[in-house]
Amino acid sequence: WQRLTEGMRRTSSSLSDSVTGLFTKRRLDDATLEELEDALVQADLGVPTAMRITEAISAGRYNKEISPQEVKAILAGEVEKTLQPVAQPLTIDRAKKPYVILMVGVNGAGKTTTIGKLSQKFRQQGLTVMLAAGDTFRAAAIEQLKVWGERVGAPVLSREQGADAAGLAYDALQEAKANGTDVLLIDTAGRLQNKAGLMAELEKIVRVVKKFDPSAPHATLLVLDATVGQNAMSQVELFQKAAGVTGLVMTKLDGTARGGILVALAAKFGVPVHFIGVGEGVEDLEPFTARDFARAIAG
Ligand code: GDP
Repeated sequence: WQRLTEGMRRTSSSLSDSVTGLFTKRRLDDATLEELEDALVQADLGVPTAMRITEAISAGRYNKEISPQEVKAILAGEVEKTLQPVAQPLTIDRAKKPYVILMVGVNGAGKTTTIGKLSQKFRQQGLTVMLAAGDTFRAAAIEQLKVWGERVGAPVLSREQGADAAGLAYDALQEAKANGTDVLLIDTAGRLQNKAGLMAELEKIVRVVKKFDPSAPHATLLVLDATVGQNAMSQVELFQKAAGVTGLVMTKLDGTARGGILVALAAKFGVPVHFIGVGEGVEDLEPFTARDFARAIAG
C-alpha cells in the first residue's frame, strides 16, 4: 500500500490542493460547491459521483464554514461507499480443474504482465498454473508470455504467430485437463484498431472454451490501464459485449493522476474489481480494497 499511496499521490495531491484551496476560510456556498464538483470531475470520478459527493458534503452544512480535513473525510467516506460493493477478491474454485481465466484488454494495458503477476500469486498458493499464448497476432506477446512463464514456473502453450487463437485455447484446455492443472490463464489479443475482428475472435474463443466445459471461462478479467482515464469506460463496454467481463484489474496506478477513474467505473458498471497494479515487478499486484483506495485518493 506504500506503493499505492505514493503512486496515488498525483491523483490525491491535485484533488487535495483543490480542496484545501477551496475550503480554507470559505463558506459552503453555491460557488464553492460548483468548484468542488469541477475538481472531482477533473479527478476522473465521473459526473454522477462528483454530484453525489458534493451533495453529501453540503448536506446540513450549507452556508457554514467547513475545514479541508472535514471535506476530505467525507470525500473518503463517499468514495469508499461507492467502491465497497465492487471490491471483491478473486476466488479460485479448486473443484474446477482447470479453473479457466480468460484475460482480455487492449494492447499495452498490462495484460501479459498481469498474467505473470497472477501466476506468481497462484503458485505461491500452491496451485499449478498453465498459460496459453492466445495473442497469436504479435510475436512479441508470445515471447513475453514465455519469459513470464519461465520466471514463475508455469508451462506456456504457444503456436506460431498468426495461428488460430481459439484452436490454441482448446488445445490448452485439453492439456491442462490431462495434466490436472489447477489454473489455466488464457491470454488474448487486444487490437483496438480492428474492433470487429477483435470481438469476433474473443467470441470464438469463448464459444470454443464453452464447448469444452460449459461452466468455463470461470472468470473473464479485463485489464485496464489507469492512465487512459475516461477511455476506460468505453473499453469496459466493448469487452463486456465481446466476452462478458466478470472482473477488473486496473494497472499502472503507480504514478498516474487519473486513479479516480476506478470510482467512475464502479459507479457506472458495478463490475467487481479484484486487483490493482502498482508497478512493473512480479509482486506489484495488490488485492483491491475500498478503504485503502478511498484513503489514498482523498489524500
Ligand atoms: P499488454 O500489451 O496488455 O500485454 O501489456 P504488457 O503486459 O506488455 O504491459 C505494457 C507495459 O506496461 C509494460 O512495459 C509493463 O511493464 C507495464 N506495466 C504493466 N503493469 C504495470 C503497472 O501496474 N505499473 C506500471 N508502472 N507499469 C506496468
